[in-house]
Amino acid sequence: MGLPPSLHEHVNTMKNETLFPLYNKGEQIDTPHPPPQKPQGGPQQAHARRVYIETYGCQMNVSDSELMAGILTQSGHQTVTHIDDADVVLVNTCAIRENAETKVINRLKHLNHRKRRQPELIIGVCGCMAQHLRDRLLDAAPYVDLVMGPDAYRNLPVALDSLTGGLEAHVSLKDRDPFLGLRLDKSEDYADIAPIRKEGIRAWLTIQRGCDKMCTFCIVPFVRGRERSLPLKLLVEDVEKLVDQGFKEVVLLGQTVNSYRDNGSNFGDLLYAVGEVNGLERLRFTSPHPADATESMIDAMASSPTVCKHLHLPLQSGSTPVLERMRRTYTAEEYRDLVMKLRERIPDIALSTDVIVGFCGETEAEFMQTYQMMADIRYDSAFMFKYSEREGTLAHKALPDDVPEAEKGERLKQIIELQEQISAEINTTAVGDTVAVLVEGESRRETDKYYGKTDGFKTAVFPKADSQIGEVVNVRIHNTTAHTLIGQIV
Ligand code: SF4
Repeated sequence: MGLPPSLHEHVNTMKNETLFPLYNKGEQIDTPHPPPQKPQGGPQQAHARRVYIETYGCQMNVSDSELMAGILTQSGHQTVTHIDDADVVLVNTCAIRENAETKVINRLKHLNHRKRRQPELIIGVCGCMAQHLRDRLLDAAPYVDLVMGPDAYRNLPVALDSLTGGLEAHVSLKDRDPFLGLRLDKSEDYADIAPIRKEGIRAWLTIQRGCDKMCTFCIVPFVRGRERSLPLKLLVEDVEKLVDQGFKEVVLLGQTVNSYRDNGSNFGDLLYAVGEVNGLERLRFTSPHPADATESMIDAMASSPTVCKHLHLPLQSGSTPVLERMRRTYTAEEYRDLVMKLRERIPDIALSTDVIVGFCGETEAEFMQTYQMMADIRYDSAFMFKYSEREGTLAHKALPDDVPEAEKGERLKQIIELQEQISAEINTTAVGDTVAVLVEGESRRETDKYYGKTDGFKTAVFPKADSQIGEVVNVRIHNTTAHTLIGQIV
């Protein structure tokens, strides 16, 4: 996509705001809990594989990799944490920007070197880029054995079996046809699959897949298909299980998470229901769409003690004509009114956003409306991007990408400077406050300190004292940077 809202790509200028990022980290998913099952009967048993999953892209992709690990483990395969132990490498990819795809192609070339030493190594490409490029991917990387889009993961065991076993077990991998799984399936929600997650205090739970919005800059509806929600009852049970497994915080995930619906229940109902799960400390969600910010969602945020008072509310542009060209379905005025309403109902709410500058036809005056909107609203943090055209999007087909690159860069620089200043000023006002922090882990820079998140998703760093990871502690803030609160447990 040209460009990405929060659940998509995150070149995060606000280094600590990492509810959604994880970009191009090549993160692998292992199977810490529950332990891998022993291979069970059926055709897979003879061909149980050790699978290394490498993840690129947004949190939705990380969540999909957990799902893939669940599907593979259920069918008797095993996921591994080191690529050297693997006989299958699955690269779960992102198609948001061209450079995300270029990175994956480079990674595949690297994996091909490995394949030369290990000819039976299966290389699979999964996720949005697989769906976007389809068989063109095989032109760029003919050594790839498996290409699978986001709605086809259920076929992973069949794919591995067909590539490694079956009646033609004597045929070497290089002589087999690649396995393509590229059907988008509106009915696929993976509701019956138990994902395998990394241990930690925060779990991400996909409540909805696909998107019906069709923003003109975005590739997501074309690679992830139509919107579908998981049943509310099942999601509540999932959260109960996550709490039993030791997770303290759950983040509900969806491309437009607040358009969730299930048999008459809406997103507000889901927030209330999940917020009541015993033992759950905190509930967050990402990414909502401003047009779907209903009274019931705002009520739940205002009144459920579990739901964090932090909203990531993608703006994209502060100019109504640009929003129209983006097909965002709200005007700048409606967005401002929504922010006003949120602040009336939830006075201490923390707001973050996504902004794109240099979208097709954006004039200097339209850009200044975005700048002014950011200056007026004063977000706690923002993900900011230059528009870049993405093949396959509606904008690519119909709107010229006509803002000069240098101009885009200059506009981006201006809003980054503005936001850095605002974030620093907002953080400074926290000095002297005592804030509740969920302890997440040891500070990377100072091992005698812990870091954690406030309810508003700010990072706080403080001496460990007697606190434990997973506990909520009260921290008095005595110093701040644009990205961090520094304090002491009281
Ligand atoms: S709402 Fe849907 S189409 Fe619009 S940016 Fe988000 S995922 Fe893309």
